[in-house]
Amino acid sequence: MKRVVVAGAGISGLSLAFELERLGLRVLVLESERRAGGKIETDRRDGYICERGPASYLDRQNSIMPLARRLGIESRVLPACAAGERRLVVADGRLHDTPLDASTLFRSRLLPLSAKLRMLVDLVLPRGPSARGQEESVTAFASRRLGVLAGERLLQPLVSGLYAGDPDVVSMPAAFPLMAALEREHRSLILGLRADRKEQRAKHAGSDAPRLSSFVTGLDELTTSLASRLGDRLRLGVRIVAAERAASGFRLAVEENGRSSTLDADSLVLAIPAHQASSVVRPLDSDLCEILARIPYVPVALVHLGYFASALPRPVEAYGFFVPASERLKIVGAIFASAVFPGRAPARFSLFSVRTGGARRPEMASLPDEELTALAHADLRGLLGLTAAPAFAHIARHERGLPQYTLGHMDRVAALEAGEQRYPGLYFHGNAYHNAGVPELVSRSGKLACKLVEELSR
Ligand SMILES: Cc1cc2nc3c(=O)[nH]c(=O)nc-3n(C[C@H](O)[C@H](O)[C@H](O)COP(=O)(O)OP(=O)(O)OC[C@H]3O[C@@H](n4cnc5c(N)ncnc54)[C@H](O)[C@@H]3O)c2cc1C
Repeated sequence: MKRVVVAGAGISGLSLAFELERLGLRVLVLESERRAGGKIETDRRDGYICERGPASYLDRQNSIMPLARRLGIESRVLPACAAGERRLVVADGRLHDTPLDASTLFRSRLLPLSAKLRMLVDLVLPRGPSARGQEESVTAFASRRLGVLAGERLLQPLVSGLYAGDPDVVSMPAAFPLMAALEREHRSLILGLRADRKEQRAKHAGSDAPRLSSFVTGLDELTTSLASRLGDRLRLGVRIVAAERAASGFRLAVEENGRSSTLDADSLVLAIPAHQASSVVRPLDSDLCEILARIPYVPVALVHLGYFASALPRPVEAYGFFVPASERLKIVGAIFASAVFPGRAPARFSLFSVRTGGARRPEMASLPDEELTALAHADLRGLLGLTAAPAFAHIARHERGLPQYTLGHMDRVAALEAGEQRYPGLYFHGNAYHNAGVPELVSRSGKLACKLVEELSR
């Protein structure tokens, strides 16, 4: 039977391997670290649950629940409290609700009247470059459609939230294809969003709309379960160093405990970061190697801070907030972890996960622990009026945390897809190409598994 080798045991590689095996293929996952899960990793310490990577997901794809069901862990899925619906944004140094519809927007103090009136121009503007599939930055798209200030306060937080990116260089159609499609289909972004909301409501009529979720003791319940189901088809501590064409498929150079060896694969899926994939394909194709190396990553550090209840002047009931670039704060945003999911902090304590670094302030992610903690606390104190120092601190750093879909990304992805055609059996998977969200990656794994089954059975 033909064998598929999957490089990388992050959620992309694990969910793909699980699906391939379910469809009857022989699969082997090689992971360079001594643990599976990739960016998904949960630390449980002093009664706190700290997510080192993603903290939650919004399953618009309906991919996680079916997977959890197949794994027999659906009862472990934890929907967010009502607080998770409320998103905040910083404007002029204060927290404001992000309006969810036109009437709340017009009542909100997030924007001055002039900015609200400028937004209405969207209703009569013609389509722009994103609608034609041409790349433009999020800043250019947002200011063209909604005006500078509304763009900054309503759309920029999306870039911070999903990519910790710089809206001036992140490509709108590459990073937010659905939003670009709204302009293409409805011409006006406001009308498009309204139609989309209607469509979503109709789609979920009588059933539950997708809710922000996690797992009872953290998101790594999902990856741990996938890894244990794969058993000996998952090998930890094995790095794929290079791939070459072989008589049938690929010959892989691998390293394990400092020892080098080779391994053959009929198909090779690189579910590893783009810069790692770049080294692996160097002997195969120098163009692919160069394109992959051009996908940039930004460093991110998450600072988890726990406070005793009396340090909060009032309860915080929201998902968290994001900080637009023009604000003077040093942090990118924060998630109110224990307000969103019960059990993330000991009784009478609250846990906040503060995001720092990203494209706008990469240097922050490598500050010494004490400095980073002090700075995260200072910004949080200014916004929430905290009256005491944190009782708990925990830091998670990612030197290359999140891939950036910068201008030119769509051409790079098209060139990689052409490369897949040149080397039948080679696939690029993972968060560097189409979407970094966990449900989207799981959904892509499902589609890729079907494609592999079809191609290998030819
Ligand atoms: C701080 C942070 C917060 C986030 N928040 C959210 C969120 O709230 N919601 C959400 O949906 N998403 C979030 N994301 C994004 C999401 O976590 C990632 O996009 C996703 O987990 C990436 O999964 P992956 O499998 O594609 O890659 P990874 O998780 O990076 O896995 C790749 C794996 O490949 C291994 N590897 C690398 N090179 C080799 C090699 N040569 N041979 C073998 N193995 C190799 C690595 O060790 C790693 O385990 C967040 C990400 C970060 C960093």
